[in-house]
Amino acid sequence: MNDEQAEATAYALAHPDEDAGGAGTMPRAIDDAAIAEPLLRNLLLALGEDPEREGLVDTPKRVRKSLAFLTEGYAQDPQAILGTAVFPEHYDAMVLVKDIELYSLCEHHMLPFFGRAHVAYIPNGKIVGLSKLPRLVDIFSRRLQVQERLTTQIAQAVQDLLEPRGVGVVIEASHLCMMMRGVQKQNSRTVTSCLLGCFKDDAQTRAEFLDLTRHTHH
Ligand code: ZN
Repeated sequence: MNDEQAEATAYALAHPDEDAGGAGTMPRAIDDAAIAEPLLRNLLLALGEDPEREGLVDTPKRVRKSLAFLTEGYAQDPQAILGTAVFPEHYDAMVLVKDIELYSLCEHHMLPFFGRAHVAYIPNGKIVGLSKLPRLVDIFSRRLQVQERLTTQIAQAVQDLLEPRGVGVVIEASHLCMMMRGVQKQNSRTVTSCLLGCFKDDAQTRAEFLDLTRHTHH
């Protein structure tokens, strides 16, 4: 790393928020090979590896691109991406998209957690294109997360976007940080839910939603 790169790295580390938010117009340091790849090369050295050997020589570049993709949600604004797909519609029963594949990274270990999300709402004059609910799951999954916050953020985004009568989100996920290390529980799954509006207040709606999400096959 030359002095300029070291300076840029130090700056990026000291100002983590500067490039992270917004509507995706600001590039992040992870998109800058000169900043991110020396860090990843140093990580290989710290592991006791030889970053020059054939199998590893392009690893910093590959890991940088992979991490940039897996965290691209930081640069995405749900309102900007989904707002164009909101339509007026007088449908007042439950809309449920089940078994949305989900891949995220736990913020404690930067290891994957993965599973399924079920996202439901009861409209109040507005609906959103169905493909947009999986898109919303991706936007919040592609960040460093804890499953609890991910669940709440998805529910709150549907709430903000559609102002529906209610929202329900259930996520079932397996965490590699539990499976590969730590307690090494290979078969445990973590289930989280966030219920807003009538999903929280109305016992029948809540029961219907939770019943519909329970019949999931793995
Ligand atoms: Zn973890």
